[in-house]
Amino acid sequence: MKIIQNYIDGRFVRGSREFPDINPADGSVVAQVSEADRSQVSEAVGAATSALRGDWGRLSIPKRAAILQKIADGIEGRFQEFVAAEVADTGKPVSLASKIDIPRGAANFRAFAELIKTAPLESYRTELADGSAALNYAVRKPLGVVGIITPWNLPLLLLTWKVAPALACGNCVVVKPSEETPGSATLLAEVMQEAGVPRGVFNLVHGFGPDSAGEFLTSHAGVDGFTFTGESSTGAAIMRTVAANVKPVSFELGGKNAAIVFADCDLEETIVGLTDAVFMNTGQVCLCAERIYVERPLFERFVLALKKKAEGLRLGWPTDETTTTGPLISKNHREKVLGYYGLARNEGATIVTGGGAPHFGDGRDTGFYVEPTILTGLAESARCVREEIFGPVCHIAPFDTEEEAIAKANDTKYGLAASVWTTQLKRGHRVAEQLRAGITWVNCWFLRDLRTPFGGMGLSGIGREGGMHSLNFYSELNNICVKL
Ligand code: NAD
Repeated sequence: MKIIQNYIDGRFVRGSREFPDINPADGSVVAQVSEADRSQVSEAVGAATSALRGDWGRLSIPKRAAILQKIADGIEGRFQEFVAAEVADTGKPVSLASKIDIPRGAANFRAFAELIKTAPLESYRTELADGSAALNYAVRKPLGVVGIITPWNLPLLLLTWKVAPALACGNCVVVKPSEETPGSATLLAEVMQEAGVPRGVFNLVHGFGPDSAGEFLTSHAGVDGFTFTGESSTGAAIMRTVAANVKPVSFELGGKNAAIVFADCDLEETIVGLTDAVFMNTGQVCLCAERIYVERPLFERFVLALKKKAEGLRLGWPTDETTTTGPLISKNHREKVLGYYGLARNEGATIVTGGGAPHFGDGRDTGFYVEPTILTGLAESARCVREEIFGPVCHIAPFDTEEEAIAKANDTKYGLAASVWTTQLKRGHRVAEQLRAGITWVNCWFLRDLRTPFGGMGLSGIGREGGMHSLNFYSELNNICVKL
């Protein structure tokens, strides 16, 4: 059986224990994963610290950028291997991994290779009372050793979203991918080696969160800053741990995202967009819409149209090109989502479609599939309307006025993403501006320009990454003041 190893100081190393990497499509074991123990995590931090003090931190920006481009070439050169690893670990359809996850993995390196070359820095001339002046200018230094902890839903995409800008700024990293999805991160370590990334610059440790590699990393005083994507409650736990060493954090956390659909929308375009927004990656995207508010005259038609789309999704083997919807990530997560389906019934929901688990009569029955599900009729106070479910499910409710829709959309402790669907230009802008979310789409969903700020309000995160926002998090700015 294949052993997925840690990558520390430029070498692949076994850990002290192993745990299985499960294929969610049928529950089979894909590989054994070597779990890094506390001393190995410490070794990884030490290797990163040495590399930082060595040549990497002083490498010129064009040379660092060239290495980032080579990493992107390496991902593209082994595209099919990355796709296969991602599909086996996550159960996502091969079409999705090929179209989004792996291309974005490479694109993240290309985007930050370009951006770091042109990143502006502030300078101010200060006129002094005695007629002289001072010139202030900032220089960008690496933050240091960066701890990167990522989730399982978009493994390579979200990991490279942090690794690329961190390396672009001259940092060295210790990465802890999700225990559910160790495959593509390990392939990335091979690509790093092939691209000539010096040893110690990129380190990879496998394991779990509490009392495992995740916590060993966040409690290590030698790490200079942490960037994390995952659940809000995990963010809170990490924050408590890193507080002991007073380290900066950048957090991209959960959401309970709303979509507002006005009766004047282009219905066909809206249904296509919201089918993706609810069901893409089996609803396991932090940006997915779990609450849809539809203007009352359109409500019945909208519900029927989305139901038709949901029932047309093809739940299949992830490796089948025609599959649109794979399983959930794990047995535990399936139990959680099915628990919410049951709770929705108890809370008085109408199950428009789905609400259970499919039966295939083949190996997928030991996998972690659930039915795409649409709910209506719940009170805004229902747990299914308030809590992040992270499955292929949404609740649809009618509204009568613009103000009511905005108030309902904003009535959440989260604030990650929202979308507005209307053909009235002014209304689109007006409503978008009033929504409390890190990103609001008008007549689209999931479109991203990698230079734009990305992050969430409230329980959805701390700080912004993307473009210059990433470069600023992964840098220390040193202001130099020269008396002229
Ligand atoms: P999770 O919080 O369970 O785990 C994420 C990572 O944190 C894993 O690598 C895990 O091992 C590690 N971890 C867990 N406990 C830890 C601890 N105490 N100390 C250190 N590390 C610890 O999240 P998940 O289930 O993998 O991912 C799903 C969640 O991620 C959802 O809530 C989703 O909304 C969120 N998410 C947010 C974004 C965003 O950009 N805002 C993107 C994707 C996913």
